Amino acid sequence: MTLSVTFLGTSGAVPTVERNTSALHVRRDGDAFLFDAGEGTQRQMMRYGTGFDVDAVFLSHVHGDHVLGLPGLVQTWAFNDRETPVDIYTPRGTGREVRDLITAVGATPDYGLDVHEVGPGETVLDRGEYEVRTFRTEHRTRSVGYALAERDRKGRFDREHAEELGVPVGPKFSELHEGNPVELSDGTVVRPEQVVGDPRPGRTVVYTGDTRPIDAVVAAAEDADLLVHDATFSDADAERARQTAHSTAGDAGRIASDAGAKRLALTHISSRYGGHTGELKADAEDAFDGETLLAHDGLTVDVPLP
Ligand SMILES: [Zn+2]
Ligand SMILES: [Zn+2]
Repeated sequence: MTLSVTFLGTSGAVPTVERNTSALHVRRDGDAFLFDAGEGTQRQMMRYGTGFDVDAVFLSHVHGDHVLGLPGLVQTWAFNDRETPVDIYTPRGTGREVRDLITAVGATPDYGLDVHEVGPGETVLDRGEYEVRTFRTEHRTRSVGYALAERDRKGRFDREHAEELGVPVGPKFSELHEGNPVELSDGTVVRPEQVVGDPRPGRTVVYTGDTRPIDAVVAAAEDADLLVHDATFSDADAERARQTAHSTAGDAGRIASDAGAKRLALTHISSRYGGHTGELKADAEDAFDGETLLAHDGLTVDVPLP
C-alpha cells in the first residue's frame, strides 16, 4: 500500500521563480487528494505528474496563496468531462467564500461539487482503512489542519505455525486471522494469539497549513510518520512569525520533537530566503532529532510501512 506526498507548491504568500504557492498532493494506493490549491496548482500537477484526478480537496484556510488555484482546477475538470463528484472541505464559516470563488468565474459544474465546512476534531472522511481528520490550528483567519491516519492493520499470520498446530489450510486460517478461536477435528482449540502477531500500526501524515506553533498540533502529530509544518521564517525572524501568525523553522522542529514525529517537512517558505534556505533547515535540526526535509516543488516523499 503506497502512501506518498508530492509538494506542488512550497512558497509562502507569493510565488517565486523556484517555488509555487501552497498545494500538497497525497496519494494512498488508488486514492488521491489535494491539500490546498494555490494559484498555478494545475500546471504543477502536470509538471510533477500527479494527474488531475483527486477525490477531494482539503483547504486549510481561505487565504489567496492556498485557494486561488481552485477555480481553474474546477473548470479544467469540467473541460475534461469529469463525471465523479468532488468534495471540498474548508474551515467552518468559509463555505460561502469558497463557493463564491468558484462561481465568480463560471457556473457550478455538472459533475457535482460539494463544499463541506469542517471544524477541528472531526473525522471528515472515512475510508475504512484510513481516515482524514481535522485539528485546531491558529492563524489570522479561520483555519484547520488535517491528518490522514491509517487504522492499525491486523497482525501477521504465522501460517507455518498454524500448520504445525494442525490447523487445516482453508477457512480456519481466516477465522484465526479475524481474531476468532477455532476447534480442530480432534477437539483441540487453537486461539488467535497463538498464530497472529501484534497489530501493525498504520501510518499518519499531518498537514498544518498556516499556523503559529501550538500544542494542538503536537497532539495531532503524535508519533506521525510525516509532519508537514508551516516554516515560513527562520528563527532570526521570529518576531515577524509572531506578527503574521506563522511558525519559524525552529518552531516546527520543536513541535515535531514534542510530538515524537518520525519525519518533518518544512514548507510555506517565505520568498525573502530565496535560494538561501540552509538556515531554516539548521534551525529545525537544532530542535528535532528525526529526519528534516526542506520541501521544494516537485519533491515526492514516500511514507513506508513501519
Ligand atoms: Zn499561506
Ligand atoms: Zn495564510
